[in-house]
Amino acid sequence: PIPAITGGIRFNQVVFEYEKGRPALKGIDLDVRPGQSIALVGHTGSGKSTIINLLSRFYDPSRGSVVIDGQDIREVTVQSLRSQIGVVLQDTFIFSGTIRDNIRFGRLDATDEEVEAAARAVDAHDFIMKLPAAYNTEVEERGNVLSMGQRQLLSFARALLANPRILILDEATASIDTETELKIQEALKVLLKGRTSFIVAHRLSTIRSADKIIVLDHGEIKETGTHREL
Ligand code: ATP
Ligand code: MG
Repeated sequence: PIPAITGGIRFNQVVFEYEKGRPALKGIDLDVRPGQSIALVGHTGSGKSTIINLLSRFYDPSRGSVVIDGQDIREVTVQSLRSQIGVVLQDTFIFSGTIRDNIRFGRLDATDEEVEAAARAVDAHDFIMKLPAAYNTEVEERGNVLSMGQRQLLSFARALLANPRILILDEATASIDTETELKIQEALKVLLKGRTSFIVAHRLSTIRSADKIIVLDHGEIKETGTHREL
């Protein structure tokens, strides 16, 4: 039997203040069904990152609750919560080591075959094979062996290998050439399939393909709907 997709998320009247009396979120109600992809949009300072911070428990709500699959996330350990949530940040994290180590980060038990399968699935295999030592090529944290687009694909391969139920993605704003952009779009589809996802979206293509768009404004939900509805 195919296992049911899980990872339903609810925000119940969530208020959050980094500083007392200045709420960054002012009573957010959200209901995300398992497997849905959510695009968060809104001006700078509207609360997008704060929603993601609460979901990954970098902070807890000042009032209200965040619930995953019926359970208040304050009742599970941070460690088990984080093992179910994959995070791909804007400034893609590459560390000094081989390409293989970078993909395997977070899944140290993964075999070479599994690493390669993940790279193939997001269409990163071909560019990796063109590097001087393929998967054994050493990259530097701040080195420029890899383009922004390639870094993004590597981070997708890493997330895919980790296979979290819930995926959080803070989309890069960096301009990427059209060909890589298309590759990233395709890779994103593969990565999101079967997971619940929250994307701080900057690309129109990502916003278009989301199941639900949430427009934030000064810590409140201003509008929700699909791209067609909005
Ligand atoms: P951006 O598009 O610039 O990333 P955002 O929508 O992610 O913006 P948030 O980072 O969630 O916005 O910020 C929401 C509000 O909370 C803003 O008023 C911001 O100044 C404030 N804020 C964010 N982080 C902190 C912090 N660590 N300490 C104090 N205030 C913060
Ligand atoms: Mg932000």
